[in-house]
Amino acid sequence: MEGTVFDVQRFAVHDGPGIRTTVFLKGCPLRCGWCHNAESWHRRPQLAVRTGLCPGCEECRDATPGATARLPHRSRCPALRVIGRVTTAGAVIEEVLRDRDYYAASGGGLTLSGGEPLTQPAFTESLLRLAGEAGVNTCLDTSGFASEQTVLRMVGLVDLWLYDVKATGEQDHRSLTGVGPGRILANLERLLVLGERVRLRVPLLPGVNDTHEHLQHVAAIAARHPELDGVDVFPYHSWGVAKAAEVGATLPYADLPSVTPEAASDLVSRLHRLGCTRAQLG
Ligand code: SF4
Repeated sequence: MEGTVFDVQRFAVHDGPGIRTTVFLKGCPLRCGWCHNAESWHRRPQLAVRTGLCPGCEECRDATPGATARLPHRSRCPALRVIGRVTTAGAVIEEVLRDRDYYAASGGGLTLSGGEPLTQPAFTESLLRLAGEAGVNTCLDTSGFASEQTVLRMVGLVDLWLYDVKATGEQDHRSLTGVGPGRILANLERLLVLGERVRLRVPLLPGVNDTHEHLQHVAAIAARHPELDGVDVFPYHSWGVAKAAEVGATLPYADLPSVTPEAASDLVSRLHRLGCTRAQLG
């Protein structure tokens, strides 16, 4: 089973419990204005151009950021690199298993992220199945934007779903992410009814989606589902802005400063005051 991966991060500690290896899959149907991984959006490998690294060979001058044609690119210019590689599930799991001792010692394992892993359902299913067969704990970091059929395919293979709640209301959700919330919320409810273990992830951007209505909505979901594993708040940081430019993507909130530690604590406190006392910084 083949799929397209654009990064593998070992020793990750913010993508689920314990020490984990996070595998980032390419492809995402959403366009969140604050995306940290815009280089994941396109399903195919792409050319990234980092002009600041050009040593003067000028090859990058004619390169198109984000191009998918004529790859793999065999340039020696350090300003050019290909984001994404086609690989097999078996090869990825072999890499993941190198750190199995760390997973065993820390309660960690494999996290699939992206992009949206559910845009490559067969590959994602295969990775989860192989990890499970090897006794490796699995997390799936998802926007939840997929067909019900795709989501149900993963049920029983995911030890912990890391599930985003990005905005509230049809209009806000659509303008901030490019899609409506209906399917995402329906999938979330379905997973919880089926007894899947789910942790909410709430990206918050002051002045953009930290509205009282949205925080109230998150608190209401948490109140309705005490079985949730937890609620993690992710205050905005601007780490993705430069990467987005390298593949020709533009982010509407590129000028927004990263949230300070004090403001981040305040976002969590606001959720606490709304009764969501399990909210914590992710
Ligand atoms: S769902 Fe995730 S990867 Fe996709 S655009 Fe939003 S933040 Fe980026």
